Amino acid sequence: MSSSSSANDFYLNKNLLRTDALHEYILETSVYPREHELLKGLREETVKVHERSFMGVPPDEGLLLSMLLKLMNAKKAIEVGVFTGYSLLTTALALPEDGKITAIDVDKSAYEKGLPFIQKAGVEHKINFIESKALAVLDKLLEELKEDELYDFAFVDADKTSYADYHERLVKLVRIGGLIAYDNTLWYGTVAEPENPSIPPNAKIIREAAIKLNKSLAADTRIELSQVSIGDGLTLCRRIA
Ligand code: SAH
Ligand code: CA
Repeated sequence: MSSSSSANDFYLNKNLLRTDALHEYILETSVYPREHELLKGLREETVKVHERSFMGVPPDEGLLLSMLLKLMNAKKAIEVGVFTGYSLLTTALALPEDGKITAIDVDKSAYEKGLPFIQKAGVEHKINFIESKALAVLDKLLEELKEDELYDFAFVDADKTSYADYHERLVKLVRIGGLIAYDNTLWYGTVAEPENPSIPPNAKIIREAAIKLNKSLAADTRIELSQVSIGDGLTLCRRIA
């Protein structure tokens, strides 16, 4: 009796990644051997040249994004929040030769640090980098929008407090059946923890924004939703209306 109930407890504990060792196992076994060498190079360079290298998309998440892009035959993508370009290079590599990605960031200098790796990978021709605040660009794209020129895929990884504003634009810019992915939606797990006075004020504001966003996406009938617990939380939204 007791042994079967403890077996049940085992199967009922569905928390993935219960240890750091398990995460390390995944990386060593399935991720690093499959990471493109120039993505690895870009990731290592970012650690060398940028004190906030942790901002880059982690490689396990990169492999998922790459597979999704290929499964859906994405040709036209948009990225909000480029940094040194890990997710951008991931996307550019996954798009076909004639694929295009519009990449927006307020800071071109970080992008330039990763650019040699993008060039070496032979995918720079797919990228249109725009140095600007993202909201202004999305509004402009919407104004100029033609129904047959909608995007297949959007990846959002910039200022977290603007995600709700980005979403309102992206549900119109991405075609029905297309995918919008939001990064960091579990915000270091803080979305499920009580308000903690010891976290930095900015992190607190982002925690609140993430909680609000997650609720509002769950209620949004224009999209099909999947919250993926990879990286720092990746929310997949397939536009259905
Ligand atoms: N996806 C990137 C990480 C992005 S980090 C990678 O895989 O490496 C977040 C980025 O968002 C930073 O480069 C920052 O400059 C950018 N950002 C912040 N606020 C922004 C805004 N309002 N518009 C556009 N980019 C913004
Ligand atoms: Ca991120």
